Amino acid sequence: MKVLVANLGSTSFKYRLFDMSEGAASMLTSGGFERVTEYTPCIDEMLAKLVDDGHLASADELEAVGFKTVLGKDLSGCVDADEHVLAALDGFQEVAPAHNPAYAEGIRSFAERCPRARRVALFETAFYQWVAPAASHYAIPKAWRDLGIRRYGFHGASHKFVAERSAELLGRDDVAERVRQLYLRGPGECDGPPLRVLSCHLGGSSSVTGIRDGVAIGTSMGFSPQSGLPQNNRVGDLDAMAIPYACKMLGLTLDEAERQLTRKGGLLGLSGVSNDARDVRAAAAEGNADARLAHGVLIDSIRHWAGSFHFRMGGAEVISFTAGIGENDAELRAAVCAGLEDLGVKLDPTRNAAVTRGAEGLISADDSAVKIMVIPANEELVIAREVFRHVTHQPSLSSQST
Ligand code: AMP
Repeated sequence: MKVLVANLGSTSFKYRLFDMSEGAASMLTSGGFERVTEYTPCIDEMLAKLVDDGHLASADELEAVGFKTVLGKDLSGCVDADEHVLAALDGFQEVAPAHNPAYAEGIRSFAERCPRARRVALFETAFYQWVAPAASHYAIPKAWRDLGIRRYGFHGASHKFVAERSAELLGRDDVAERVRQLYLRGPGECDGPPLRVLSCHLGGSSSVTGIRDGVAIGTSMGFSPQSGLPQNNRVGDLDAMAIPYACKMLGLTLDEAERQLTRKGGLLGLSGVSNDARDVRAAAAEGNADARLAHGVLIDSIRHWAGSFHFRMGGAEVISFTAGIGENDAELRAAVCAGLEDLGVKLDPTRNAAVTRGAEGLISADDSAVKIMVIPANEELVIAREVFRHVTHQPSLSSQST
C-alpha cells in the first residue's frame, strides 16, 4: 500500500511517499517546496514528478494521503479528512491562521486529484489527549472555556516519535511498544522503572513536552501555535494583559495586534534581524544586543519549560533535542544543559559538537545520570503508520471530540 504524507507548513510543502507493505513503513521518496503561497500547483507538480520518476503508475495508485493537521474545533485524533475535518479546521481558522487554511486547501486539492485515495488527518493535538485536566485548563470564565479556549498542545507527531525512539535507544521495548500502540490501546501499564523524557522540539516552531512512560503529561504550547517558546516570527507566551494595553497605548486595532503577534513576534520581533535562528545567532556573535537578547530569551524559555516538566514528573531520565535548531545548534544545546550537574545532567562537549542534522547521537557524558540525546525528527513516519492503521480498519482510540 502506497501512503503519501503531506506536510503543509505555513510557507512550505513537504511530502514523503511510503510503501506500507505488511505494515512496515519503507520510504520510497521525499521532496518539497519552499516559499509557498499556493499549495495546489505544488501538489500538481509533485504528483507529476512521482509518476515521471516511476514511484507511481498514476495518481490513482495512491491508496492513502495523510495530513499533519494542526488544530480542529471539537475534533482530534486520527480521522477521515472529510467535511467534518474541513469544518473543524474552519472553526479554529482564527486560532491557527498560518496552518488551518493551508490544510483545508491541501485536503480539497487531493480530493479532486486523487479521489480514490483515502484522505486521513492525524491532528497534532492527538498526543495530548491524556493530559490531566489540571494541566490543560486556563483560569478563565466558563463562557470562555465553553468556546474551547484551553491548552491543546502541538508537534504531537514529533514528540511521539521522540518518545518511541528514546525508549528504543535505552532498550526499553515495553515503553516503545506502548507508544506505537498508544492511539489504538491507550496508555495502559508499563513494566519496569519510570522513563521520563524532556522532549525539546526546536525549529521554526518550537515546543517542550514532558513524557512519562511514553505518554505526554503536558507541553509548552497551549491554545494556539503562538504560545510557549518564542517561535520564528510568532510570539510565544505573553501576559494576556499586554494585548489590551498595547492596543490602547499604540492605537492598534485588535486585527493589527494579532498580525504583529503572529508575524512580527518571536525571534524576529525580539532581534529585529531575522526569523531564522542561524541569522540571530550570527548577529548575536557580532555583538548585536537585540539578537543576543532573542537568543537568550529562547534558551531561558526552553529551560523554563524543561524545568517545569522535570519538577512535575519528579525527575527525568532523558533530555532529547530534535528539529532544525535542536539537531544543529550544539552551542544552544550546551547552553540549555549548562549548570545542571546537581540534577544529574552532564553534557559531553566533544560528543555534542560532533552531532549535526540528520544524525542521531548520545551527547551526555558517561557519568551523566540523565541521558542527553539528539533524535532527528521523523513526524512523517508516525503519520504514515497511523494512516495505515486507520485505513486497514483498526480504529483509533483518539476521540472525535476534544
Ligand atoms: P525546522 O522547522 O525543523 O525545519 O527548523 C528550521 C529552523 O532550524 C530554521 O529556521 C533555523 O532557524 C534552524 N536551523 C537550521 N540549521 C541551523 C543551524 N545550523 N544552527 C542553528 N539553527 C539552525
